[in-house]
Parts: sequence; C-alpha cells; structure tokens
Amino acid sequence: MMNTQVPQVATLSPRHIEQPSFGRILQSLSHPVFAIDVNGLIVYANTAAEVAFDGWVVGLNLRDLLPGFTLPNVTQFDRKSVLLASKSNEAYEATLAPLGDGFFVVDLRAHSKLSETPIQTDLDDLTGLAKRNMLMSHLNVARSRVLGAASFAVHCIDLDRFKTVNDTLGHAIGDLLLKKVADRLNSACRKGDVVARLGGDEFVVLQHDVTDTAAAERLASRIVDLVGRTYVLNGHTINIGASVGVAICDENSQPRDLLRNADLALYEAKRAGRGRYRSFESSMSARLQERRDMEVDLRRALALKQFELSYQPFLDLNDDTVIGFEALLRWNHPVKGNVPPLQFIPLAEENGLIVKIGAWVLHKACMEAATWPGEMIVAVNVSPLQFKADNLLETVSSALARTGLPAHRLELEITEGALLDDTDNVLLTLTALRDLGVKISMDDFGTGYSSLAYLQKFPFNKIKIDRSFVAGGNADSEAILKAVANLGSSLGMSITAEGVETVEQLKRIRNERCTHVQGYLTGRPMRPDAIPAFLNQPLLAPL
Ligand code: C2E
Ligand code: CA
Ligand code: CA
Repeated sequence: MMNTQVPQVATLSPRHIEQPSFGRILQSLSHPVFAIDVNGLIVYANTAAEVAFDGWVVGLNLRDLLPGFTLPNVTQFDRKSVLLASKSNEAYEATLAPLGDGFFVVDLRAHSKLSETPIQTDLDDLTGLAKRNMLMSHLNVARSRVLGAASFAVHCIDLDRFKTVNDTLGHAIGDLLLKKVADRLNSACRKGDVVARLGGDEFVVLQHDVTDTAAAERLASRIVDLVGRTYVLNGHTINIGASVGVAICDENSQPRDLLRNADLALYEAKRAGRGRYRSFESSMSARLQERRDMEVDLRRALALKQFELSYQPFLDLNDDTVIGFEALLRWNHPVKGNVPPLQFIPLAEENGLIVKIGAWVLHKACMEAATWPGEMIVAVNVSPLQFKADNLLETVSSALARTGLPAHRLELEITEGALLDDTDNVLLTLTALRDLGVKISMDDFGTGYSSLAYLQKFPFNKIKIDRSFVAGGNADSEAILKAVANLGSSLGMSITAEGVETVEQLKRIRNERCTHVQGYLTGRPMRPDAIPAFLNQPLLAPL
C-alpha cells in the first residue's frame, strides 16, 4: 500500500534513510545468535541457530543446547566469552553481552579446541549399540578419510508404530523389541559399519565404502525389509515398520550436515507414508526452509487474527432441510493469500500449534453458532493431537459456557488417527464429552486403518463417509458405501455422505440409506455473514 505521508524533505538525513530491521540483519548472519533472559530462556534465535541445533529452539533453555552453560556475571557494558560443548560435542565460543531489561545476546562461533579432546566412547546399555558421542567420533574419522569416489553414507532410521507397542504392551516388551531391532540392523550391515541408537526408537547407521547412491539405497531397502518383518516376543506377534533417510558424504559435507540431511530425508520418507526410504536431495532443504518460514508465520497467525471460519451446510435427507454447518478453518496469509487447511494443518499438528488453534476454532465456532436460529448444529473438526493435550474436555466445556451454546448443538468430528495411540484415554475423553451432551462423529471414514474395529469401541453419533467413496464410478467404493451405510444404520449411527457434487451422486446415496448429505451440490463453505441469507433460501428442490 502507498504511504501517503511521505515527509517533505529536500535532502535525506541519515534518519530518513530506510533501514532493514535488526531482526533481518540478525537472520542473515551465518553464525548462531540468540537472545536469552536472565534464566537462560531463549526468546529469539536466528536461522543459523535453528539450523545448528536442528529446529525450533525459542522457548528452550540455552542449557538444553549447551549443557555447560551458566549465565556469567556481566555488567552493563561487559562481554564475556566462554568455551562450551554442545550435546553432540561440538565446541563453541559463546560471547555474551547484556541487552538491557534483563536480556542478553549470545553469539556462538565454532571453536576447534574441544574437538581435539578425546570423545567419550560409551555404548547404549539396552542394545549395546554406539551412542551419539561414539557415532560422532566414527563420523569424524570417516569424514577425514573421504577421498575421491570412496565415501560413506549415513542412514537415519525411525520405527513406525513403536510408541503404540510401548503403550499397549508395556515397556518391557518395548525394550525387547528395541534389542531385536538392534540385532536386525547389525545383521543388515557389513562388518565395520557402525550402528548407533540415539535414544528412543531413533537409530543411525554409518555405512562405509559407498561409491554411489544405489549402494546406499540397497542397504536402506534391506533395513526397511528386515526391520519390517514380524516379531514374536513373549507370545505377542508384533508388526512395526522402519522409515529410513539416507545421505551420502561429499567433499563439502560435515558430519553434522550429513546427519541433518539424512534426517530431512527421513522426514520425507515418513511423510510419503512410512515403511520406506528416501535419499537426501537438495530440494529437501529448500522445502524445510519453506516449512520453517511457514511455521514462523503460523505461530503469529492467531495473535494477528489471520484465521477465520467458513461454514459448509449439511442436510437431513428425511426432509431435505439444513440442520447444521461444519466449521472449516481458513488462514488469510498476508503474502500468500488464502492458504488451504491441508497445507498448514499437518504442519500445526507436527509442531503442536494445532492445540491452541483448535481451541480458538472451538470457541469461535460456538460463538458464531450461538447466533444461528433454532436448533442449528455446528460441527467442529478436532485433531488427534488435541486429545493428547489432556485438556480437551475443559476447552470444550469452557467454549460452551462462555458462548452459551447448548451442548447438544455442538458436534465434534474426529478421525481414526485420534484412536490410534493411547486409545483408553481417548475413549475416556470421548465418553466424558458425550456425557456433556456433545455429539461425536467419525470423520473421513474409510480412509484410515481398521475402521470397523473403532466403531465397536465407541458409540459414535455419526459416521461421515469420505468423499472418495461417494464419487462413484468404481464398483469397490460403491460396495463400501453400501456396506458402511448398512452397518451404521444397524448400529444406530447417522451416516453423512461427504463431497456430494452431482445429482446422480445424491440419488445414489439416498438409495443407500445415508441420512445426511454434505457437499458442493447442497452448499459450498461460506463466510458466517452469508448464513442468514442461505437459510432463507427455498429448500433443496426435491430430487
Ligand atoms: P474435512 O473435515 O473432510 O472437510 C471437508 C473438506 O471437503 C473441506 O475442505 C470442504 O471444503 C471440502 N468439500 C466439501 N464438499 C466438497 C465437494 O463436494 N467436493 C470437494 N471436492 N470438496 C468438498 P477444506 O475446507 O479444504 O478442509 C480440508 C480439511 O482440513 C478438512 O477435511 C479437515 O480435515 C481439515 N480442517 C479444516 N478445518 C479444520 C479445523 O478447524 N481443525 C482441524 N483439526 N482440521 C480442519
Ligand atoms: Ca470434517
Ligand atoms: Ca471429512
């Protein structure tokens, strides 16, 4: 937008020369810079700091990154430098200077001194594998030997569904399983390769003598296969999977970069659907940067009031009347414009922001629905993570209490993801919500894992059949639609067909005993202020 108040000055004094913000200057520095408070809590970190410490560090204590860090006594114009080692034993010279108001700036420069000291070489008690420090020293040695085409590869490995095993079968079985995984990793590797466990279910393999990507990918694929085979432990049959990210060392990469690159590739492997491997490509770093930028924006979006809700109507097929609206989150990004929920909700789920955003959605949706006429229902999507945050019940009851919306006018839509881990607690929360009078729907039915089993575990009020089964044109999906509609009606649950776009689809779902319909045919998502006019329209023409 044009600034209409340009100062009328003939010459520019230094004060009128446009300056970039200090934040941008700090962002551009290639070494890590933090601002901390008197307790060491990180309140600002530039990009280099996030890169050096693998992610979002604001909110952590500097001690979490540099275990030996203590705040020295610095007076107003003093600076102090100390030598410190990071958790992965990298040496830094940290220079500390006061910023005033109880804040300090800490500037980190890599330092060679500590890395010359011998590195602890201990093994993991449980599995006997190398621990992080030992892995780092092997990586350093391997790095120093890289010559021409002969290189080495780093594989970052993460077990899929390990947490579920631990939660459902107990830690003793979880530990046994980790030992078995360690055995299989050892057997997948050649003598001389290093297998390490960095904690939890995170493993790393250093593969020697790698001349090309194919050689590294052969091992990655062997790991996916071996670790993914069935385990029988104390009479339990256990199926887990492994996702693997691979990075190969070149002349320019340092051990740290390699681990980070392999980890980035692992992230992509997991996003691609788990149980597979990915090799690092440089575009992955660019995507990471994009995600980080998006994450920074997302953190501010609530405070800057960039979220809004759209509402899509759903109809009762008995009398073709609108009986409620589903609240759908919209993000108006100042630069990118309208960012679709499928782009930012997965990110908000990854970093936990969805809990705060979800609470905002609940409150806003109840507030707006309280102004709607009659008994109109509002349906709100609840992310699996909101169940794990422990206070969902409180958030829902406070949204109802503060807005005055009666509980029976609120419907919560959950996906199968919510029922995957920690099912007992989720079921307790669902029961408590139902006791409040809130209705519960199973959303996106048919797209997940073992849908039918979940329907037995909890008496959902409604099943929403995913639009991929409604689209038609495929005998399988039509059979599934029919089966689910039958099952739902025999369990006393309503059935909503989602994504109905054509009259033919509507006819079919009527025949299949669906009770409700939602889709572009009967109404697109709309701004809240369009709702009164929409409700005054004549009913859906009888079809
Ligand atoms: P969903 O819960 O399955 O919501 C329905 C999505 O299908 C919406 O997309 C809606 O605009 C779209 N849709 C409705 N009718 C039709 C149709 O006839 N044809 C087609 N092609 N699409 C139709 P939207 O708004 O982009 O939302 C996408 C997803 O984002 C939602 O899928 C939901 O999983 C998630 N989401 C949206 N708002 C929230 C929220 O507040 N919290 C959480 N946790 N997730 C949300
Ligand atoms: Ca939904
Ligand atoms: Ca859905």
